[in-house]
Parts: sequence; C-alpha cells; structure tokens
Amino acid sequence: MDNFITSIGYFLLFVILFKGSLMLYQSIRMRKQQQALLKADMPYIDKMDGRQFEIYLQILFRHLGYNPEVTKQSGDFGADLVMERDEKIVVQAKRYGYKNRVSLSAVQEVYGAKAYYRANQAWVVTNSYFTKQAKELAAACGVKLVDREDLQELIRAINPTFEAKEIYENVTPEARKCPKCSNHLVVRQGKRGRFFGCSSFPSCHHTEKINK
Ligand SMILES: [Zn+2]
Repeated sequence: MDNFITSIGYFLLFVILFKGSLMLYQSIRMRKQQQALLKADMPYIDKMDGRQFEIYLQILFRHLGYNPEVTKQSGDFGADLVMERDEKIVVQAKRYGYKNRVSLSAVQEVYGAKAYYRANQAWVVTNSYFTKQAKELAAACGVKLVDREDLQELIRAINPTFEAKEIYENVTPEARKCPKCSNHLVVRQGKRGRFFGCSSFPSCHHTEKINK
C-alpha cells in the first residue's frame, strides 16, 4: 500500500513538473515572438534619416492617442513634433547611431520649444541613449527623456505594425547636396538596400547612407 501511494506521489510530481516546464516553455516562446515583432521595427528605425524618424514618431504617437503635427523643417524652434492628449507636448526627435549619445543641447532646445509653443511638457525621443549631462539637465528642468528602451516600450504598447519598414521605404529623406560636386543627392535602390547617390552619376561616384 505504501508503495502504491509513493508511486502515485511520484506520478503526480512528474505531471506537475511536466506541466510546469511546458508552461515555462510556452511563455518563453511568446516572449521571443513579441521581441521578434519589436525587433522588426528597430532595424528600420536605425536606418532612417531624421525626417523619416519624425514621420515614424508621428504615426507611433497617433497610435498612442496623441494628435501629433510635424513642425515645419525650418524654424521649428527646437520641436519636431507638437502634440496634445491631456496636455500640450513638444517633442524633439533624435535619430542617432546608437553608439552616439544625445547631448545636453537637445534638452536645451526642447526646453526652449516648450516656452515658444506654450506647451506643458517637453520630450526628447531617441533610438539611442542620453549623455549623463543631458540626463542631469533634463531632471533639473522637467524634460522627459525617451531612450531606446523606452521607445521599445512605446512600440510594444501598440501592436507592432511594421510601419517602420513602410516609412523607411516610402518617405523621401530630407534633401541633401553632394559634398564632392554640390549636385543633388538622390535616393537609389541598391542590392543591399536604399542609399543616397549623386544625381550627376556617372561623372560623380559619391554615395552615402540614408542614416548618415
Ligand atoms: Zn556628386
């Protein structure tokens, strides 16, 4: 009888362990799937130019219930987006290579924009990170900093919709001139993706990345 009870005990223990590991496996798998969806946006964001990033943020914040407007390219007084939900918010967008940290001046500029647009909040949003000084100043003047991790949180809050890819492929980056011959650069499609090439090709062979 004792043997029988022990066997039942072992059996139950086995079932519990089996079920437990199955649940653990499933939750890890779900997490990985979510991360994969999220990661689908980040590589495209990292490849964007500043203008494409602004458009991306406009769409992201619209999904989050704000009504963002992209400010005019020239004379934006330090704000790339102006939006309102409960309060008026000015946003400066910084698309950087994520080894380059966003410095103090972004915080200063958006703080100025907050006054200019009579906004209640000022944010700096980046796909990168902030310098220590930028964080100190932001804390002192109440500027909200949204770094790469926070940005991923925001993207996770909506269902990832792969809009980063759409924007990267369809929104024309800001116009640039060729540093070698001063002609216009044009977006070209290469084997390894989109890039800026000189409009006077083949007489000028200059090329550069979209996210220069
Ligand atoms: Zn050129």
